[in-house]
Amino acid sequence: MQLAAIARELCPRCHKGKIFRGPLWRSYLAMYERCPECNLKYEREQGYFLGAMYFSYLLSIPPVLLLVLLLWWLTAWRFDVVLVAAFVAYLPLVPAVTRFARVLWLYLDRHFDPDQ
Ligand SMILES: [Zn+2]
Repeated sequence: MQLAAIARELCPRCHKGKIFRGPLWRSYLAMYERCPECNLKYEREQGYFLGAMYFSYLLSIPPVLLLVLLLWWLTAWRFDVVLVAAFVAYLPLVPAVTRFARVLWLYLDRHFDPDQ
């Protein structure tokens, strides 16, 4: 099941091998070079994961927007203060989002270009 494999950060080809070397709080973005199960090369070329940055941006918009709205309703702060506070409140989520964006990027790229 594709979604389960994405949620568990598993290889986009065999859905068995792990992508990351350890849990988020210990190894952050430390990835295996190849899938330990099927030997798929994760980083196809230099700068391959720049594409994942677009996912990071897209994934960041809804939670930041939600934080802005919440702070705007719950506080009497000026709007620029609310914006800054929302970004600061969002910062702790950035590592998780960055990692998840890489997994999504791997799956999307392999979906449209499954060679190799
Ligand atoms: Zn694999």
